[in-house]
Amino acid sequence: MPTAPESRYDQSSGAEIAGRRSFIAVTLHRQDAPSMDESVKAIELQTLAGAKHAAEVDPIATKSHTTPRTARILMLIAVIAPFFGLIAAMLSLWGWGFRWSDLGLLLGMYVLTGIGITVGFHRLFTHRSFETNWLVEFVLAVLGSMAVQGPLLQWVAAHRQHHQHSDHPEDPHSPHHQGNGLWGILRGMWHAHLGWMFTSELPDVQRYVRDLKQSKVIRAVSALFPLWIALGLLIPTAVGWLLVGTPSGAATGFVWGGLVRIFFVHHVTWSINSVCHVWGQQPYCAGDQSRDNIFFGIFGMGEGWHNTHHAFPTSARHGLSWWQIDVSYWVIRGLELVGLAWNVKLPSRAAIARQSRHRGL
Ligand SMILES: [Zn+2]
Ligand SMILES: [Zn+2]
Repeated sequence: MPTAPESRYDQSSGAEIAGRRSFIAVTLHRQDAPSMDESVKAIELQTLAGAKHAAEVDPIATKSHTTPRTARILMLIAVIAPFFGLIAAMLSLWGWGFRWSDLGLLLGMYVLTGIGITVGFHRLFTHRSFETNWLVEFVLAVLGSMAVQGPLLQWVAAHRQHHQHSDHPEDPHSPHHQGNGLWGILRGMWHAHLGWMFTSELPDVQRYVRDLKQSKVIRAVSALFPLWIALGLLIPTAVGWLLVGTPSGAATGFVWGGLVRIFFVHHVTWSINSVCHVWGQQPYCAGDQSRDNIFFGIFGMGEGWHNTHHAFPTSARHGLSWWQIDVSYWVIRGLELVGLAWNVKLPSRAAIARQSRHRGL
């Protein structure tokens, strides 16, 4: 029986990508079926010729480990402390007034650690959408770790599992399997946003990140996660002290550049998992509920063009239209221009046209 265009697609077509040497190709084969539950989704994360850093993922097994109690307690602290930091920041506005240095520290640390997540953890380490040298890898890995979203290897494993099973029951953070009606939607949003970190099982890191574990630098950065959290709090504290010249400058630097910044980076990143699988446009056939959301496209530094990303997971550029602001791609393009990034993967015009829902997009 012929397969309908809407129900069968090949994400490696998103990988008719110029200039690639190695990357993870995600191939979805969906049978002709009216609903997600009836469809069969087999995934292959496969290496192409010349692949140097390829994930070898068993396409069938979904073995995982229960999240340890200590890890859940630490994650609870990591979620709650920035919230109290936000309240402290509001109180400091009331009591001490506003300092430009605090806003600068908030924005500077937001952009740096955000890029660590979007360019580093996501586009480089998870999807291998470009290649770079070990020093740039190290810097991006450290910056991403400062965002306090879990050790690098764990983050990548969870995100690869998300792509492998996107919006199916094995997806660690889909908002679509928590019941029907308004209550189901609310439960789903909570689960996808942060509930999954406390209830889900951890993906099997060994299986999902074999490629990354071959790198000593990546293994070391991932293992030293607590050190990078401390550094991410120490830097704004020290800079705040230097700029203001008093201990109160250090205190507000810690609160704004540390806790408040972590709060915003957390919730913008997690909104990609929750909001961007519920609200927004679907210009491409991606085989799941992913959406392009303009708000998180801008504030998520390009990550909110999430339907486009699911359609072309190995593309370094997520905002493919000229008007889709994609700060993370600008960073990658900048690195490429100065010779610090190469084999930057982009989908061909033919691949874009093939997966577009609208002719002439
Ligand atoms: Zn997604
Ligand atoms: Zn991704």
